[in-house]
Amino acid sequence: MKAAPRTGGKTAATRAGGKTAATRGAKTAGAETAPRTASGTAAAAGAAAVRKAGGKTGGKTGTGTGKDTGAGTGSGAGTRPESRTALVRRARRINRELAEVYPYAHPELDFENSFELLVATVLSAQTTDLRVNQTTPALFAAYPTPEDMAAADPEALEQLIRPTGFFRAKAKSLIGLSTALRDRFDGEVPGRLEDLVSLPGVGRKTANVVLGNAFGVPGITVDTHFGRLVRRWKWTDETDPEKVEAVVCDLFPKSEWTMLSHRVVFHGRRICHSRRPACGACPIAPLCPSYGEGETDPDKARKLLKYEKGGLPGQRLKPPPDYPGLPAAPLGAA
Ligand code: SF4
Repeated sequence: MKAAPRTGGKTAATRAGGKTAATRGAKTAGAETAPRTASGTAAAAGAAAVRKAGGKTGGKTGTGTGKDTGAGTGSGAGTRPESRTALVRRARRINRELAEVYPYAHPELDFENSFELLVATVLSAQTTDLRVNQTTPALFAAYPTPEDMAAADPEALEQLIRPTGFFRAKAKSLIGLSTALRDRFDGEVPGRLEDLVSLPGVGRKTANVVLGNAFGVPGITVDTHFGRLVRRWKWTDETDPEKVEAVVCDLFPKSEWTMLSHRVVFHGRRICHSRRPACGACPIAPLCPSYGEGETDPDKARKLLKYEKGGLPGQRLKPPPDYPGLPAAPLGAA
């Protein structure tokens, strides 16, 4: 058996008992921490903590319509919407808390250069980063450059990427974008959004991933986790990824955009899951108007934690050196 992750038993719940928002929120709100609150009163506890987090301007919180005005945290009847100032303050505090919980947040695709990141991101549509990471070692060994991939036999390429699903369409995109890189960009991945989105199979989300992580250009990446969490936090109720991106960009300085994206996705994968968020083990529960949407019992919630928070392998076969969890296993490994 492999060594335990560096965090050992120091789960998010433990952190919540330490210096993160849960404890501070409990002390300042003059109540028990939200995670310890019975689910029946969870919304009220969460809303109270949100009011506190919003400070003087936060006032009472209400259901509201949300949107980019920040209205609509909490659920109590007769409450008024969260002000714009309070929303910005709360959103930035969530980001700071997530930075403490996930100081090692990073893109979860394995890559060595901008071409590999571009290809891996295209492959990640409709599948997990883990499955992409298990597929790309053989792919990049066979086709290390855009020139190699542009000249690939389509059927051979399809077989290599088959585990990622939609392999015929993805193979077409990879050969198309590699041909465009070879013919229009001297075999280099361009560092401008307008050039990237001109490549076959490359949309705004893929372009932002490449810009943010291979070129250091700040960008918000709205994937399924990011959209779900920012709606749970009532930063917006938009569902269109481009509108979500615009709203969230307005809440934060540009310098935070890329790391915020990683932190939010980390939280979505590890604690704030789609079907069963682990609210009882969530360190930002006092800042969350949706506390109680998931499991609130601390012991049951801790059992829902994934990856390094739950002691399980991560998504990357080659995680960065500061990652405290286990690397993922190659494709087909027991
Ligand atoms: S797990 Fe998600 S929904 Fe639950 S308190 Fe945490 S952020 Fe909110």
